[in-house]
Amino acid sequence: MPDFVGAVDQGTTSTRFMIFDHGGNEVARHQLEHEQILPRAGWVEHNPTEIWERTRAVIETALNRADLTASDLAALGITNQRETTLVWNRRTGRPYYNAIVWQDTRTDRIAAALDRDGRGDVIRRRAGLPPATYFSGGKIQWILENVDGVRAAAEAGDALFGNTDTWLLWNLTGGPDGGVHVTDPTNASRTMLMDLETLDWDDELLSFFGVPRAMLPEIKPSSHPGLYGVTRAAGPLGGEVPLSGDLGDQQAATVGQVCFAPGEAKNTYGTGNFLLLNTGQELVRSEHGLLTTVCYRFGDDKPVYALEGSIAVTGSAVQWLRDQLGIISGAAQSEALARQVDDNGGVYFVPAFSGLFAPYWRSDARGAIVGLSRYNTNAHLARATLESICYQTRDVVEAMQQDSGVVLDVLRVDGGVTANDLCMQLQADILGVPVSKPVVSETTALGAAYAAGLAVGFWSSTEELRSNWQEDRRWEPGWSDGQRSRGYAGWRKAVTRTLGWVD
Ligand code: ADP
Repeated sequence: MPDFVGAVDQGTTSTRFMIFDHGGNEVARHQLEHEQILPRAGWVEHNPTEIWERTRAVIETALNRADLTASDLAALGITNQRETTLVWNRRTGRPYYNAIVWQDTRTDRIAAALDRDGRGDVIRRRAGLPPATYFSGGKIQWILENVDGVRAAAEAGDALFGNTDTWLLWNLTGGPDGGVHVTDPTNASRTMLMDLETLDWDDELLSFFGVPRAMLPEIKPSSHPGLYGVTRAAGPLGGEVPLSGDLGDQQAATVGQVCFAPGEAKNTYGTGNFLLLNTGQELVRSEHGLLTTVCYRFGDDKPVYALEGSIAVTGSAVQWLRDQLGIISGAAQSEALARQVDDNGGVYFVPAFSGLFAPYWRSDARGAIVGLSRYNTNAHLARATLESICYQTRDVVEAMQQDSGVVLDVLRVDGGVTANDLCMQLQADILGVPVSKPVVSETTALGAAYAAGLAVGFWSSTEELRSNWQEDRRWEPGWSDGQRSRGYAGWRKAVTRTLGWVD
């Protein structure tokens, strides 16, 4: 058995390739950003060809850096930004349109219509999702309706749909020359097209969006002993490696954080925030604005489900301070600026740039900065931005406790924003619960590697993976109960100011 497992993490802002050893330690990595294409207000696209080229480049560079070849890899896993929608031609491999990214709100009319005639409730019940622009179904419908020739090609089986996992698996296994067209239940559970109980595409849900079944990938287990396929020697690996793991990024992070038991949860702080609570084989229906989703399905085992609180804008609010306002020159500087003040000076920032996701699901919300007085400075705004990340998390934690009855005794965290020490301290203060970060903070790539490695016997069991997890840092709550409840009341009031802003 080779000594390492590789994982491609195709994220919203970048694509990375990482190589791990048996202890789950990082051996090599390379990462490249891709362009965020913003053609109009509310539209967010990626170029699929650029994403495939970046994927090739990061694989080649990481292997070179570590002086490894395909024969050193026991398996390869894929994890990806979920929901982001691609349609391409099976014969040429050419995309019909740019990828429509999960944050894109162009399908707001499609989403709103679902709740006017009862389809929304069917989607809630069967797919576990509230109708929203976020998920793939409406995005596929938009491409079918707005791009010439796609509908006929889709009906003929020539136009293929996939999220970026499916796109990369297809390309890595040969593309037009025999590429496999597959996905896993975690990705499929984000489309509004899959029945959460059967783990198959559902004809009634497909009819809601006019999506022909012929364009959909086959749904295989997230950790697949039978393999999705093997990489082509002509591809970036330069040899044949079993492709045996596929998980949406948030589910991958849940696996990377070894949340294998019901009641275990993690929160990932990236472009947005995603808190997932493992609910075991039980399908918990949310009554407080969370999603029910597939956490993972390993081999022929029964699927494991999760409750998820998805927040659209967290780390990207920090990017906004940098790119649109220019008050910091890099994300890390948000911490130094926020530390210039002792509190938020009465300022709350609700970054509802894409409406509000969990637990509100209000596409009519838009961002607001409230509570300003002449006294306030950039430092208060930076502090309010970091607090907004933590308050949005508190909203989701409250909903999760109400839905599941599980009271968190610690919050396991990962993702880019966890580099911000002040933000993590504020998170512990605002939640009143300790926050804990593992040594390997790249839990998303690690989770994909775990899924791939379990399938081929590189790791024997999830118990073995548990022993790889080690705490790096812990933040304990410092605020008094009074301070915590006053702060949260201010936040809830600020949120009300953003609702109903757009018609
Ligand atoms: P993704 O996988 O969604 O692309 P990452 O986990 O790579 O996200 O995290 C990137 C996000 O983290 C960016 O939005 C960036 O603004 C934010 N970020 C990175 N470092 C810091 C920091 N020190 N303080 C605050 N935010 C940060």
